[in-house]
Amino acid sequence: MLGVTILGATGSVGKSTLDVIRRNSDRYEVVALTANRNVEALKDQCLNFQPKFAVMRDEKSALLLSKALKSKGSKTEVLKGDEGLCVVASAQETDVVMAAIVGAAGLNSSLAAAESGKRLLLANKESLVMSGALFMRAVRENGATLLPIDSEHNAIFQSLANGSAEHATGIRKIILTASGGPLLRTETAKLSSVTPDEACAHPNWDMGRKISVDSATMMNKGLELIEAKWLFAEPIAKIEIVVHPQSIIHSMVEYLDGSIISQMGNPDMRVPITHGLSWPERIESGVASLDLIKMKPLEFEVLDRNKFPCVALAEKAAVGDDSEAIVLNAANEIAVESFLHELIRFTDIPIIVEKVLNQISGIEASSIVDIIAIDSEARARAQEWVNK
Ligand code: NAD
Ligand code: MG
Repeated sequence: MLGVTILGATGSVGKSTLDVIRRNSDRYEVVALTANRNVEALKDQCLNFQPKFAVMRDEKSALLLSKALKSKGSKTEVLKGDEGLCVVASAQETDVVMAAIVGAAGLNSSLAAAESGKRLLLANKESLVMSGALFMRAVRENGATLLPIDSEHNAIFQSLANGSAEHATGIRKIILTASGGPLLRTETAKLSSVTPDEACAHPNWDMGRKISVDSATMMNKGLELIEAKWLFAEPIAKIEIVVHPQSIIHSMVEYLDGSIISQMGNPDMRVPITHGLSWPERIESGVASLDLIKMKPLEFEVLDRNKFPCVALAEKAAVGDDSEAIVLNAANEIAVESFLHELIRFTDIPIIVEKVLNQISGIEASSIVDIIAIDSEARARAQEWVNK
């Protein structure tokens, strides 16, 4: 039996992970479940899975959850805050950590899992974007097993010889596919009036609202480019982004001899989640077979960087100094949140990110303290632009 801790259990990836665990309850048991402030949702999950620990973001929600669970006779111990997240991520009972908190809020706990040598299923791409060098060193030095859950990176992992980046040789390039998001066919002139609900209406994937907006601006692909750089230790010049609207091929690796290996399947996060849980074995995920006869023809297109300026911003940050990716991520988080609250327009997102990138650069980012300081500074600057 493997003990699994799910950071961000009430989110889209968290819920899919619980679905896979429920289908494979002979192999996995839940050690800890965590949520932001949604007490009701975490209570129901705790009553279903009876974890040893639950973690809420703050004291008030933790008390509410603790009371609600006790009244049902549950023995789950409720912790709180980032501290609580790090405790469960590194707990002795935890063999596997699913890092599925959204945004920089997932950094410390993802890192805690790496530092305690766990099998780490990484969905929280923002933590890698912010702290790539430090994060990968923590994985190496503590013998953690890092399995990418982002569908593209999971596909690349599966397309690498022996399923392992360490053994991969003879790579010509990595081909990172992008669905293009819900606005791929929207005229550029109409982007400024896109509403949060329109931006979140992804044609192929059902995801949380932050990553949905990132998919609409295509900043998601930019973050994924940086994520791929760190995961697979390949230079940015060898990672090519190709638009593939059907999201059937989840990414590819091209080798020097001209072979291209890809991973394909229905767009359902339970595929990469199950792969991460069971690797190197294969188990049931609950995902239906891909219907090759009925599926739409597979198309590939050039990415329009003028229409989606976030990609070019991320490409620049990806080759810049380490602080740039931190600034890019932080400014983007503030801009996306402000857009979701209808404080700025959709097209203001790249403008704000670019302004903040121009304000902050060249700061040393070698420790977690540095990283958090740059993140805070970029958030403050982005907030100033939102307020203007
Ligand atoms: P979501 O918004 O649906 O869920 C986020 C989870 O994190 C929730 O459980 C929420 O309670 C928790 N959370 C949010 N803010 C928190 C905070 N400040 N402190 C503690 N917990 C907090 O997001 P999601 O779509 O599941 O995405 C999660 C992560 O996985 C993101 O980094 C995203 O980029 C990545 N990812 C998601 C998908 C997908 O299909 N949803 C695909 C690839 C990668
Ligand atoms: Mg992805």
